[in-house]
Amino acid sequence: MPTGKIGVTTENIFPVIKKFLYSDHEIFLRELVSNAIDATQKLKTLASFGEFKGELGTMDVRVKVDKAAGTLTVSDRGIGMDADDIDRYINQIAFSGAEEFLEKYKDSANSIIGHFGLGFYSAFMVSSKVVIRSLSYKEGAKAVEWTCDGSPEYTLTETDKSERGTDIILYIDDDSKEFLEQQRIDTLLKKYCRFLPVPVISGKVKEWKDGAYVDTDKDLVVNSTEPLWTRKPSDLTDEDYLKFYHELRPGEEDPMFWIHLNVDYPFNLTGILYFPKIKNNIDIQKNRIQLYCNQVYVTDQVEGVVPEFMMLMQGVIDSPDIPLNVSRSYLQADSQVKKISGYISKKVAEKLDKMFKDDRTEFEKKWNDIEVFIKYGMLTDEKFYEAARKFFLLKDVNDNYYTLDEYHKLVESDQTDREKTVIYLYATDKTAQYSYIQGSEEKGYSVLLMDGQLDQHIIQMLEAKLEKVHFIRVDADTPDRLIRKADDNSTDLTGIQADILTGMFRTQLPEVENTNFIVEYTALSDKDAPATVTQNEMMRRMKEMAAMQPGMNFYGNMPDMYSLVINTEQPAVRKVLANAENAIGSEITPLNMQIGEKNNEISTLRGEKTGKDDTARKELDVKIEALEKEVGDLRAKEEEIIKNYASTVPVVKQIIDLALLKGNMLKGEAMAAFLRRSVELL
Ligand code: ADP
Repeated sequence: MPTGKIGVTTENIFPVIKKFLYSDHEIFLRELVSNAIDATQKLKTLASFGEFKGELGTMDVRVKVDKAAGTLTVSDRGIGMDADDIDRYINQIAFSGAEEFLEKYKDSANSIIGHFGLGFYSAFMVSSKVVIRSLSYKEGAKAVEWTCDGSPEYTLTETDKSERGTDIILYIDDDSKEFLEQQRIDTLLKKYCRFLPVPVISGKVKEWKDGAYVDTDKDLVVNSTEPLWTRKPSDLTDEDYLKFYHELRPGEEDPMFWIHLNVDYPFNLTGILYFPKIKNNIDIQKNRIQLYCNQVYVTDQVEGVVPEFMMLMQGVIDSPDIPLNVSRSYLQADSQVKKISGYISKKVAEKLDKMFKDDRTEFEKKWNDIEVFIKYGMLTDEKFYEAARKFFLLKDVNDNYYTLDEYHKLVESDQTDREKTVIYLYATDKTAQYSYIQGSEEKGYSVLLMDGQLDQHIIQMLEAKLEKVHFIRVDADTPDRLIRKADDNSTDLTGIQADILTGMFRTQLPEVENTNFIVEYTALSDKDAPATVTQNEMMRRMKEMAAMQPGMNFYGNMPDMYSLVINTEQPAVRKVLANAENAIGSEITPLNMQIGEKNNEISTLRGEKTGKDDTARKELDVKIEALEKEVGDLRAKEEEIIKNYASTVPVVKQIIDLALLKGNMLKGEAMAAFLRRSVELL
């Protein structure tokens, strides 16, 4: 009886395989079934070239559990192997320097298997003994039986197998008894073999009889040999695609649309990707795209294999160029795989572009459901951004849609500021910002609605990509000042008037938690609101960004800064100011003059400091400090007078509250006070 040693340089390759592949033991079944399928396909190929002239017969692959015998058998009716083949393909493991190799790759054992033809040997992960019984298709071939117990020694003898093909018989070891459970095997076959191109039979079709499921004598075929993606798109109907989708993802809503991928150059790739409806929330669910290699399931962990934003899609990708059996990090680094990823991204962009061109109305209708996907793609994939520029849509508050180019043309003439920057105005909340939107629209401006989850990022990206475009939220300033076209509207308030006016409003502002107000004034039209609350665009964005990234706490903890902008042309404001001047002007004027004088003195003293020695400078500093204190006291006095007076003028509070109300900032007690006061004023 010929015995021999398997030709690897490492004495104990099997323990090594066992150990390294610990977590992935179940893939042995995929390996063995794939080999059986390959053997079957090879014989079919030979037959089609006329090199095999015999009867092909039924060419299925059978997986059989025999719990009593403790065996799992994978049988095929393929080309089979004779003694020479076994020697060449099984005994001589096709690589040298195994030790070195194993050392290098011990962390990614998966790659050992695929790359070095160890697929068959994965059987030893679960077996104490493996037997191959095979009869080659070659004329006059003798059946052989190979036995190996996991040590590098094997036996090879002639045997009495009469049917062409190969049986791989695994004597399942004690640690792997699970693989003797029909149910476990069925689950694995379902996972790995569901779409294999040759019928795979495991067990019998069951039927319900006398209160239990019992086997019929019909073989159970576990796979569908011609999955949809392998068929010609032109032969398929929408129903076919939907049916396949529901087979893949039972219980889910119909997808929005799908793409049938089909290329043979520069690499082979087929597949179907479905776009599910994406609601507001992007949750990147993993495991939604399955990767196949010639209909053999490889993985559903596709990070890095398909572009990240594609993870929102569902479906299957099949490519013989995706290396089977390798670890994910290997997949990600593989240049073929990178090309595939780029290709898919391109295909998806083409499909969207076509949908846009073919039926724009329909595309706009779908926009809400697909925008997250497109935006996510643009943000994460430069090439996709370039392609998407053509069909990416901006939506205004009145539900009109524009491409980037269209929108630019639309607003360019009216919304360019004095720095030649085109200002895109936007709202993030149609209801809350209603009166600001209205204010802008009254000026003839267009207002975009940017209320999506990714829109803040999209704004930043577009500002970076589009030249001389700046986004400003409608409540960032009064409508007049949102887009600064000429110099600011000047007001002709005197210093005292300005002090009185801003002082009156500043002292009457309510306390709003974690919020600071700056009081400003400007001359708007007399029809405009008496006062408006605005929030500076840059400040607001910084806070928003900070809120998104933990760690940038400095801005996150800062109070919100708002401006209360008073319209000096509004009649009520003019009246407030005129009355105030009458009432407290004579008290404020001397204080104001004193403050002016002291401030002049301070700047003179500051000027004197230059060129003086240390002692002289110190003396000057003491004087300056004293003067500053006096100014402070005077200011406090002034403020006190203004405050006392302002508190007797309910219209000031009313104007402030109206502004807060417009900005959605009047809440709770402040709102109650406002209502009470309104009634009183009536
Ligand atoms: P790979 O399949 O990657 O080549 P394997 O270790 O799985 O590596 O198999 C080695 C070789 O053994 C195969 O290439 C094939 O020639 C042969 N072989 C394995 N299983 C079968 C089978 N069921 N029928 C015929 N030949 C087989």
